Amino acid sequence: MEIVFATNNLNKIKEVQSLLPSNITILSLESIGCNEEIPETKNTIEENAIQKADYIKEHYGLNCFADDTGLEVNALNSSPGVYSARYAGPEKCSESNMKLLLSKLKLISDRSAQFKTVIALNINGKTLIFEGICKGEISHEKKGKGGFGYDPIFIPNNHKKTFAELSLSRKNEIGHRGKAVTKLVNYLNFL
Ligand code: IMP
Repeated sequence: MEIVFATNNLNKIKEVQSLLPSNITILSLESIGCNEEIPETKNTIEENAIQKADYIKEHYGLNCFADDTGLEVNALNSSPGVYSARYAGPEKCSESNMKLLLSKLKLISDRSAQFKTVIALNINGKTLIFEGICKGEISHEKKGKGGFGYDPIFIPNNHKKTFAELSLSRKNEIGHRGKAVTKLVNYLNFL
């Protein structure tokens, strides 16, 4: 079976493909001739994932899945949330995003937060949602060189290091995206 992963991130495609049985092949957007930007205009992480998966179904008529992730900070009413990539502006700059978040939390003692990934799967006329959550807290300063996005300021629960200081395999084991992908793969494995 072939299924489209609606992302331009080749690392994500590789990661998910490596977890799937050999009879399921992931197709990239490029390989189906989708070079346009897929709209991502909704106000929640769930709706954005569904919007992206629906776009592929409607325009290409193929089975597909799409993911969307956000960082939700409790003291900030779950923001930046769906706006995580563009928190400090349309440039989608991780350094500016982290700087802004640290400044907003400067005088706040509750630093609890969570990463949430939602995967929307459109398959054989059905839509299914898989969610992965990783709880933790926002550190007082950036630490570590690994990862991307907010990794240098996110310390997962029961850990002393930020995501950027942990190995990728450890991040995948305990992380939001890994949990959502595991649920997706378990479902696809039983088709
Ligand atoms: P996306 O939906 O995977 O593109 O994620 C949206 C934004 O959330 C990214 O641009 C990052 O700022 C942030 N983000 C998503 N996943 C992670 C992660 O695993 N670590 C740190 N930041 C992340």
